[in-house]
Amino acid sequence: MMIVGVPKEIMLEEGRVALLPQQVGELSKRGYKVLVESGAGVGSLVEDSAYLEAGAEMVSDVRELYEKSQAILKVKEPMLNDKIGEHEISLMREGTVLVTFLHPAAPANHEMVQQLRDRGIIAFSMDAVPRISRAQPMDALSSMSTVAGYKVVLMAASRLPKFVPMMGTAVGVVPPANFLIIGIGVVGLQAIATVKRLGGVVSCVDIRAAAREAGHSLGAKDAGWDVPKKIAEGEGGYAKALPPGWLKKEQEALAPLAREADVIILCALVPGEKAPVLITKEVVFSMKPGAVIADVSVDQGGNCELTEGGKEITLDNGITISGYKNIPGRMPAHASMLYSKNICNFFLNLYKGDSGEMDLEDEINKEALVTYQGKILHRGTLKAMGEKAR
Ligand code: NAD
Repeated sequence: MMIVGVPKEIMLEEGRVALLPQQVGELSKRGYKVLVESGAGVGSLVEDSAYLEAGAEMVSDVRELYEKSQAILKVKEPMLNDKIGEHEISLMREGTVLVTFLHPAAPANHEMVQQLRDRGIIAFSMDAVPRISRAQPMDALSSMSTVAGYKVVLMAASRLPKFVPMMGTAVGVVPPANFLIIGIGVVGLQAIATVKRLGGVVSCVDIRAAAREAGHSLGAKDAGWDVPKKIAEGEGGYAKALPPGWLKKEQEALAPLAREADVIILCALVPGEKAPVLITKEVVFSMKPGAVIADVSVDQGGNCELTEGGKEITLDNGITISGYKNIPGRMPAHASMLYSKNICNFFLNLYKGDSGEMDLEDEINKEALVTYQGKILHRGTLKAMGEKAR
């Protein structure tokens, strides 16, 4: 019987957990034994008793959990466990199957990926699951983007010294707040839907026409910035990094839109690249006092020149710039509900039926595999690491 371990997440302010009791039940029914660290679900409002009822065994010593488990399911990349003074990677047995978000191509994670390789861990990254239709039930990136798009609008609205909807009062009408959403992927679409639910006015900008149309269909005004398709789109219809001349044109086109905005939500990304800087310092200083910028693309460097990763700053003119990371971790209950389903579906797809044999020919598993038998296999990571990958 294969033993699957679910440790408590150790990143500061991370309330998510990899498996909820419902998916523990599913794995138990399929013949897996699930060990859960005591208190792992507390941040997502799940008590140990619910895990016990679903068939899990609770373990209070995290070392014991790692020692006994052949597979570890997590949310965030492995890191140093301050409480016991040991890195999560060194707690794993050689040959452990690890499934989590690794963001392996990001330079900050290269050393961690090398450690996984050297320790002989079979590591799969949930952010490397290919976006084919069969993999949609495992698409944790989209699930977490949905959470981020919703939550970031609420966070920005709560910083705004204004109402979001139009208000009719006994002393007159209060105008609605203007939101500008830049980058209409999954985050941007959910942000638009959330602004509409709150009653704000919303405009959208994207270099891909299909993204703008999707934004428009949710009720956003197309702000009118356009780029020829061959410059904006690459393989599979995904965005390409704009050449410097076009990027400058975009920065200039965004300046008057930014001046009109009460809130700018930034979520423009190019797959595998640093985020484009779209809102310059000069533009920030030209915005209305009290305006809010929320930069969701901060993990890839940010879309605003003044964003500080992990921080919220307020400038002298009262403009707030939020560079908070890990927004899904700030809405853990439902984020865990979605993630638990995604990771459970992924894990069950890893094996050929109930044989216990891993299917590494399967396109989804192959693409998501980062380290195996002492080698780094993930293409994006190899490209980003260059010589260091050897
Ligand atoms: P993403 O997070 O990679 O990027 C967000 C958006 O930023 C994209 O729409 C991109 O065009 C835009 N962008 C890039 N450079 C820009 C610039 N200079 N200015 C303005 N905008 C810029 O996007 P995502 O959430 O991964 O989604 C990308 C596409 O994939 C969407 O159309 C989405 O609907 C689709 N998608 C498909 C599947 C699936 O088939 N399983 C799953 C998820 C998303």
